[in-house]
Amino acid sequence: MLSEQVQNDFPFFNNTNRDLVYLDNAATTQKPQAVIEAIRTAYVEHSFNVHRSVYTAAQQTTDEYEAVRAKVARFINATSSEQIIFTKGTTDGINLVANGYFKHHLHPGDEIVVAISEHHSNLLPWLQLAKTNGLKIRYIELASNGRLNLAQARQVVNTKTKLVAIAAVSNVLGTINPVVELSRLAHQHHAQLLVDAAQAAPELKMDVAKWDADWVVWSAHKMLGPTGVGILYGKQQRLAQLVPEQLGGEMVDAVSRDSFTTQPLPWRLEAGTPNIAGVIGFGAALDYLNQIGMQSIQNDCQQLGQLIYDELTSIDGVEVYGPTKRDTGIVTFNIASIHSHDVASALDLNQIAVRAGYHCAEPLMKALNTNGAVRASAYFYNSIDDAQRLINAVKSTKEFFIANANE
Ligand code: PMP
Repeated sequence: MLSEQVQNDFPFFNNTNRDLVYLDNAATTQKPQAVIEAIRTAYVEHSFNVHRSVYTAAQQTTDEYEAVRAKVARFINATSSEQIIFTKGTTDGINLVANGYFKHHLHPGDEIVVAISEHHSNLLPWLQLAKTNGLKIRYIELASNGRLNLAQARQVVNTKTKLVAIAAVSNVLGTINPVVELSRLAHQHHAQLLVDAAQAAPELKMDVAKWDADWVVWSAHKMLGPTGVGILYGKQQRLAQLVPEQLGGEMVDAVSRDSFTTQPLPWRLEAGTPNIAGVIGFGAALDYLNQIGMQSIQNDCQQLGQLIYDELTSIDGVEVYGPTKRDTGIVTFNIASIHSHDVASALDLNQIAVRAGYHCAEPLMKALNTNGAVRASAYFYNSIDDAQRLINAVKSTKEFFIANANE
């Protein structure tokens, strides 16, 4: 497993947290020394603003910043770095597209299709738009095998559909959604496709050309990068019509007393001083991931997810959500009659960090008929031993609660 070779690259495993089994990677990931060092160097040696000053040192910082844009384009197989917009994260990117594009293009009676499993970040902006623009939100439900129901999706997507907004990987079920099929379905009906890649980017080799996505958004912090940095990718003709929500420096070309003209893409959509050190740190994260190889990362995460799933389902009274064949390192479960927060607290006493609750996917929780769940999410630096410690702790947690319930 990769964990044996990579753990030394992460200061996290050598500091006071070394006894903690970190299985909350879908919330955010640990950072390798290379990323921390890139951010440190950006502040210590290259703390200059970008796109403004003519002196050589500032120009170098601009070049470094722009080189990350090109790196991101290559990482997702985009044709041009102009299609890469730096944002604050997934939530920021989706809100930008909702308010800067769809608010201006959708009319009463138009429909937006999302999956029932969407994260609130890929739901609330559309619910809000439904109110302001008189739209209808329609849902792709889960099939009995725990995956999206494609047959039902074919009924839900119709000539009124203007957008299909879908996560490439569910942050709760850990499933890889059929993005290519949904893309074809959307485009057959002249609807656009937005992919929430927040959980896909960390584990899968992304290919926006294969997806034929109109929009793709994700966050750096879930793939070894810093918080406060995200990406919005768009097809050229879509980005050209995206109205900047933020106006001010950097995005402007010429200003007179009563009007202004804007910069070309991508800068037109990046008003103000950006998160320069964060973007440079993200570049180091991409280098690191490329060096390990996304296919190896996917293989290890899938293997860890499958191991956790198989072991958990063999425990009496444990219900695991989603399909039997696992796609990623995300595994969400409940122990019968014990609240997910109690399970997570008990696991915490065993030095195991997992998340509990609704996972920002309340409609899905209702569809699964549960009032919250526990989520273990493994990344490629987790070991089989981490998975085993989780399983043992779940077993002992269950025994503990049963023993105390009988007292
Ligand atoms: N979508 C999905 C599928 C997610 O898992 C997350 C993060 N939990 C988000 C969107 C939101 O990402 P961020 O908080 O980085 O904006």
